[in-house]
Amino acid sequence: PFKQRTNRTASSHGTTISIPDEGNEKRNKGDIREGIEGCIGNTPLIKIKSLSEATGCEILAKAEFLNGAGNSPKDRVALNIIELAEKECRLVPHSGDTVYEGTVGSTGISLAAICRARGYKAHICMPDDMAREKSDLLLKLGAEVERVRPAPIVDQKQFVNLARTRAEEHTADLNRPGRGLFADQFETEANWRAHFAGTGPEIYNQTGGHLDAFISGAGTGGTISGVALFLKQKLPNVKIVLADPPGSGLYNRVKFGVMFDSKEREGTRRRHQVDTVVEGIGINRVTNNFEAGRELVDDAIRVTDEQAIAMARWLVEQDGIFVGSSSAVNCVAAVKLAEQLGPGHRIVTLLCDSGARHLSKFWANTEPIGGKTDVTLAQILGS
Ligand code: PMP
Repeated sequence: PFKQRTNRTASSHGTTISIPDEGNEKRNKGDIREGIEGCIGNTPLIKIKSLSEATGCEILAKAEFLNGAGNSPKDRVALNIIELAEKECRLVPHSGDTVYEGTVGSTGISLAAICRARGYKAHICMPDDMAREKSDLLLKLGAEVERVRPAPIVDQKQFVNLARTRAEEHTADLNRPGRGLFADQFETEANWRAHFAGTGPEIYNQTGGHLDAFISGAGTGGTISGVALFLKQKLPNVKIVLADPPGSGLYNRVKFGVMFDSKEREGTRRRHQVDTVVEGIGINRVTNNFEAGRELVDDAIRVTDEQAIAMARWLVEQDGIFVGSSSAVNCVAAVKLAEQLGPGHRIVTLLCDSGARHLSKFWANTEPIGGKTDVTLAQILGS
């Protein structure tokens, strides 16, 4: 019966009755999405009331955890990578083709969900120190998961290198059906272009073009570059700021043009050796996606783990917003930027994923939240 949308008549007990047109019209006017792909993008822009009140700036956050496939901004990227590969006939549904990716989690989860919906297999390589929830979720989505020891990028067993190798092995093996596609989120243009075409224009439209700054962490750099390339074209004076966790070289890349500050000996503190509970952002190498927009990034702000954990608690206590580590880093940095800019400015950032994906790591040592605590933003920034 659902297929007969255009039928205007139907037979009931031998009598032909007419079906009023408005029934069909109503159905067609409804807000129905075409599968999970239809639930990607157009995420709400939320005013974070507590932070806005406390800073005197309007702090707005794009609720990217509401993307409906893998529940993070990586849905946009994964869909763009897959659709581009289909257009170029590098992927054919239900032919045994497998998508391979090296990811700390979010991109893998988005790819795994979209692969399920489109008849591909997903094979995900990830570091084994990421929150267990992410690999558990990948397995439930039917992805094959390889968890490997964190290693520097020069090591062939490093998770991104391993994913590339696995894709090559698949394609070379004539006994295996289909081909291997290496999604390559760190280097492919399809990453920043997804944000250039989606996240950036959405922020511009949702704010009516009225914003003073955009601030975000970078994992591949796709988000900050894509949004920066779009926004700066429309609003040359908008400030683009990077939020960076401990152990990442991007802060120095933005501030001084080099990855490592010789004084800090940052180069010896590889990201994978730094004991941080923040996942998904911060890198110690140059990627095409970060470089695509790097010259448009005006400044960088460091955020400690302690600040991020305290902010995550604050957001639950004050606003009922339960987020993961990179979102908390973004919010700390947004508050620091508000302090720098002074009251009356409008700052946009991103809430990347839910705290549910970080229970066993980022949220692990946090006391249950009772009533409101007396922690102030000044104390959070001081921690
Ligand atoms: N937040 C989370 C949770 C992520 O997994 C990532 C990407 N790894 C980012 C933020 C950063 O996004 P991008 O790769 O576009 O820089």
